[in-house]
Amino acid sequence: MDWMKLAEKSLAGTALTEAEARSVLRSPDDDLLPLVHAAFQVRQSSFGKRVKLNFLLNAKSGLCPEDCNYCSQSKISDAGIEKYPFLSETEILEAAGRAVETRAKRFCMVNSGRGPTDGEVDQISSAVRKVRQSYPQLEICVCLGLLESRQAKELKDAGVHAYNHNLNASENYYSSICSTHAYQDRIDTVNVAREQGLSSCSGCLFGMGEKEDDIIQLAYTLRKMNVDSIPINFLIPIEGTPLSATPGLTPQTCLKILCLFRFLNPKSEIRIAGGREVQLRWLQPLGLFVANSIFIGDYLTTQGQKPEADLSMIRDLGFEIEGSPDTPALQGRSQPEEFAVRLK
Ligand code: SF4
Repeated sequence: MDWMKLAEKSLAGTALTEAEARSVLRSPDDDLLPLVHAAFQVRQSSFGKRVKLNFLLNAKSGLCPEDCNYCSQSKISDAGIEKYPFLSETEILEAAGRAVETRAKRFCMVNSGRGPTDGEVDQISSAVRKVRQSYPQLEICVCLGLLESRQAKELKDAGVHAYNHNLNASENYYSSICSTHAYQDRIDTVNVAREQGLSSCSGCLFGMGEKEDDIIQLAYTLRKMNVDSIPINFLIPIEGTPLSATPGLTPQTCLKILCLFRFLNPKSEIRIAGGREVQLRWLQPLGLFVANSIFIGDYLTTQGQKPEADLSMIRDLGFEIEGSPDTPALQGRSQPEEFAVRLK
């Protein structure tokens, strides 16, 4: 397969055929560098060498009545995670300050649960106003579950920029990972948020035992929905969840999935989200030639790589951080601890 032909097709706005999509996922590992090079042409055309950093805050943890199999916060999870109600505004402001320190452009606040009560929307709207006052440079994204139209409007009026609600799986596979809400509920929420002027953020979670057809179906669904931002998670198999023993993907497979999503969604932000360290491992830098965005810091209930290591990776790649291209952190020559050369 001539991967550059797929890049040209993608850049011309034409969807890959299903056979072409399949060939990306089935490409030999020895073809990985030409494939990534082709996907990089598509990435560069909309995003240059910029990397957008996103900082995640678990603003309300655990205690969820839903049964998403992958999630450590669900009612069927025995994972030993922290459980707490909605954080105070002081705690949220402190987290927003940490987001700024790590050079994040987007501050993502996530509440566990099926969906917010009107009281919770009031609470989060008030917190968003405070964050906007203190850190106007931050884009704010919230993720509160299934949303009503009036709630989306209230969030937009408070200064929320984007609403995240992942589809996670293909429509066919969805009932295998969740029984307490339907796939259509998720699609409706993405649409409701967008109708109220919120930027759409909706992505995927791979490594749950889905088949090739599921990956392809989801890539086409998100293309059709034309979402602005696509976080691509790879399963972090958390002890105490039903998926804790699921075999991992190879880093090469993760890269091929990223390439497929890039070709099919050339202008959307593609974010390597949870599981980057666990599943892409030493191929993380190659992922940034395809995706233009990552989370920096910790995930909802698991730790991420140290921010300094991410900043060093971006610097060493010769990429720049969106929103702060000339920061001293990037110009410095210091090495992260794990790569420091020890001289006697
Ligand atoms: S609705 Fe959200 S918090 Fe609740 S189990 Fe599903 S993913 Fe986890």
